[in-house]
Amino acid sequence: MTTTGRNSAAAAEVVLDDVDVGYSAQRVVHAISLELPRGQIGCLLGPSGCGKTTLLRAIAGFEGVMRGEIRLNGESVSRPGFTLAPEKRSVGMVFQDFALFPHLDVAGNIAFGIRRWSRADRERRIRELLRLIGLAGYERAYPHALSGGQQQRIALARALAPKPQLLLLDEPFSSMDVELRTDLAREVRSILRAEGTTGMLVTHDQHEAFAFADCIAVLNNGRLCQWDTAYHLYHRPADRFVADFVGEGTIIPGKVCENDCVETALGKIHGTLSGRFGPGTAVDVLVRPDDVALDIEQGEIQAEVLAKAFRGADFLYTLKLADGTEILCVAPSHDNFVISDHVRLRLNFSHLVVFPRGDSRA
Ligand code: ADP
Ligand code: MG
Repeated sequence: MTTTGRNSAAAAEVVLDDVDVGYSAQRVVHAISLELPRGQIGCLLGPSGCGKTTLLRAIAGFEGVMRGEIRLNGESVSRPGFTLAPEKRSVGMVFQDFALFPHLDVAGNIAFGIRRWSRADRERRIRELLRLIGLAGYERAYPHALSGGQQQRIALARALAPKPQLLLLDEPFSSMDVELRTDLAREVRSILRAEGTTGMLVTHDQHEAFAFADCIAVLNNGRLCQWDTAYHLYHRPADRFVADFVGEGTIIPGKVCENDCVETALGKIHGTLSGRFGPGTAVDVLVRPDDVALDIEQGEIQAEVLAKAFRGADFLYTLKLADGTEILCVAPSHDNFVISDHVRLRLNFSHLVVFPRGDSRA
């Protein structure tokens, strides 16, 4: 996978080409372009109301596009004035409120989309899917007797039964407990992989996105901020919104000095600025909690512990630097400092992420 998600059109399952979608005259998503390669799993990630569901519904064919084009498996399925019907797209969908049919048993629910298959094919497919989702032998069970996670897996099997080329999932795990959610996301991911199905997940939960997707589109206010791997979203956020929305961290003021270096309350931080900012420019610098390390023996930066959160393997400390600037710092939990302790830090930046000063989130 390339980091931009741009691949040859022939290998792409989903192509969004400069797409606007909206309701009546109001545009909700603007100028979205991305390519999801066949067999890969993508994700639309962003806060509530940013247009994720609208875009997913356009991919499914429930909404038309006001501008641009959607291509699925090389075929133009949506453009202004033309919308191929959802049932002609080889697309399956799983929603948050995925309600199974309560009066049908598990086999009846899964068989819903393959009623026209021969009985033998149908039964074989149901057995195969139940094995895949870890519920072999549950054919005759009724939905009310199953846990939420089991019901969600049945809904997934129902959507996968007709072997869609593309499976669209709209916040399918939102009603689950947090601990269950990432597990289920991982499980669904391996099921899609086993079926060779391309997937596109909508979520507002970055942990779910990280557990599920090969490539993630971060949306804000109906616009695409970045279409990239989780690793790059975290380490190379394209703008302040992505930096803020994905992962933890703080943004502190700095001033560019010569030679790819920024002067901050943490001292001079070296890294590549790619000539984007001249010497003397006031900038904002992203500090991730792992960009600084506690080093009681040799650390040259003084800080005071303001707050801490125990997270199992590590602590997330909120620290105050000499000039009052606050940063986050992650440290192994065998060092256990208390509030108002004075600690020492050293820099641990592997690269520099810098934004123009005051570039707003909007
Ligand atoms: P998300 O899924 O990211 O929460 P949505 O796509 O549901 O966002 O909504 C994006 C925007 O479109 C919101 O402002 C919402 O109010 C508006 N919207 C969603 N559905 C409709 C609709 N059927 N008619 C008019 N506006 C809508
Ligand atoms: Mg939504």
